[in-house]
Amino acid sequence: MIKAVLFDLDDTLIDWSQREEIDWDAFHRQRLRTVYDLVVAEGYPLPDFEVVADQYVQMTMVAWAEANQTLEAPHLGRVLAALFRQHGVPINGRDLTPWLRAYGSPVIPGVRVFPEVPDVLAMLRQHHLRLGIVTNAYQPMWMRDGELVALGLPPDLFALRASAADVGVLKPHPAIFQHALEGLGVRPDEAVFVGDNLAADVAGAQRAGMRAIQRVTPAAAPVPDVRPDAAVHSLAELLPLLDDWYPGWRNGATPRRQP
Ligand SMILES: [Mg+2]
Repeated sequence: MIKAVLFDLDDTLIDWSQREEIDWDAFHRQRLRTVYDLVVAEGYPLPDFEVVADQYVQMTMVAWAEANQTLEAPHLGRVLAALFRQHGVPINGRDLTPWLRAYGSPVIPGVRVFPEVPDVLAMLRQHHLRLGIVTNAYQPMWMRDGELVALGLPPDLFALRASAADVGVLKPHPAIFQHALEGLGVRPDEAVFVGDNLAADVAGAQRAGMRAIQRVTPAAAPVPDVRPDAAVHSLAELLPLLDDWYPGWRNGATPRRQP
């Protein structure tokens, strides 16, 4: 019987399709500026901001490029540590939380929770399903929790929230799915995964032994040989789908025998 539903975050629970056009390079430089100012205020002489910002953008690109090859997750804190270490700032044993807090994780204008999500999550919880989030973020989860709060989706709706940065690997690596299942105390056949990305979410969850549901978005790229167990255009379709797959799940009844 189903006991848990795991969700990807971006373009699954929160909708990026209406976001304002944003200059990401300028955005990340602006975030970095606050950290740069903190480091300067600590008394460390740094090169001009533009020099450090160019290095930061380059190091972030390299971190993601390597991560996409190895599936070892990049981490914003590690990138910042490496960036400032090369300018003589001592990093050993340093708590990076103040830097990460200064960097921040603001909601991009136009990003919102998909409108059906709060009701669907409430219904799933009402029927005693455990909920989780597994996101390929390079921020630690507490930063993304801040975004959820700002978006009006209380993080504690989700008994488990896993950011790749914290776990150490990116989806589709099986370890991040196993981490989530263990955190929720369920077996793979007791959970379904919902995500928009066929390669990371659907193929990864299926390889970890879960049924995988694709949230179809206009941006979704086809991936050869990856077939979701179901595809939905709204998470409201999740409830009838669970009724079909797990008859009686709303009452905690035993599943129908397979013919
Ligand atoms: Mg996604």
